[in-house]
Amino acid sequence: MKTLVTGAAGFIGSHLCEDLVRRGDNVVGLDCFLGNYDRQLKEGHLTRLDGETRFELIEAGILDADLRTLLEGVDRVFHLAALPGVRSSWGETFADYLTHNVMSTQVLLEACKSARTQRFTYASSSSVYGETSGLPMREDSATSPYSPYGVTKLAAENLVRLYHRNFGLPTVCVRYFTVYGPRQRPDMAIQRFLQAALDGTPVRVFGDGNQSRDFTYVGDIVDGTYSAAVTGQLGGVYNIGGGSCVTLNELIALIEAVSGVHLRVEREEAKPGDVRSTKADCGLAKAALDFIPKTSLENGIAKHWESLASGEFGF
Ligand code: NAD
Repeated sequence: MKTLVTGAAGFIGSHLCEDLVRRGDNVVGLDCFLGNYDRQLKEGHLTRLDGETRFELIEAGILDADLRTLLEGVDRVFHLAALPGVRSSWGETFADYLTHNVMSTQVLLEACKSARTQRFTYASSSSVYGETSGLPMREDSATSPYSPYGVTKLAAENLVRLYHRNFGLPTVCVRYFTVYGPRQRPDMAIQRFLQAALDGTPVRVFGDGNQSRDFTYVGDIVDGTYSAAVTGQLGGVYNIGGGSCVTLNELIALIEAVSGVHLRVEREEAKPGDVRSTKADCGLAKAALDFIPKTSLENGIAKHWESLASGEFGF
């Protein structure tokens, strides 16, 4: 199998590339090292693939890359490249979200249509559901994004579906629920809280801390993504959640227990775009993909803490 992974130097993309190489794929990773966080961190994500003959990194943006050449001989595509983050998607930066999340997806889909790509797997997000859906969120629940970021993830997902329905492009979408684990992006809560425990600095919590999230370990996300690509129904959409639904306050208590460090919490106003709760119904993924998350939040946080404290990047 020859596989293209976009967003290969990112948190989830780098784990997926390692997993695919382990499975025997020849992987081409595409990433433009977007400045949403430190380039050095992204380079660090790829150190385990250094010298790996079955992995090649192409540094380019989707809109600038020679996609025709890049897709030659490629059997399947995992499209993870995006500008993530809810809070920074307001205001002027929305244009960047449109470029990286919507325009880039459309251009990639066109190229995959021409290249007759055999499988196109898109990394979508629980943010497509937004604030109004009942819990747990099911794939057929209403989609009503609550942030500009969510709007772009849903727009891209809709484009993916359109290319399946109109042109028969074999697509699958996976909706990730708050992913954590080694290499988590520095703007995300668990990484910020664990880093604060390590550095002895205070943590900022936006709102009352009673907002809850379905936290998903990155190893489970990689497994679910791979299964979706291999066994998912064409045109299908699957929730990939961790089954560990806790509030931020409960999360802080858990991080204190794992790290043995008392966290000093500084409370700030809730941020626009942050939904109150997410919770995945993974029944469809269980039935169609045999997906069951294996890592409990306790074990996942312990592994994440261990990797941060040791400077190790694996999972
Ligand atoms: P990340 O920022 O660590 O990785 C994304 C990578 O994509 C970055 O390395 C960036 O440089 C690259 N990129 C962005 N735009 C690009 C472009 N136009 N061309 C080439 N490369 C580009 O983010 P992540 O947390 O690993 O997220 C990966 C995917 O999963 C994203 O699509 C995101 O929307 C989705 N997702 C993530 C989460 C989560 O909790 N982390 C939850 C839901 C969905």
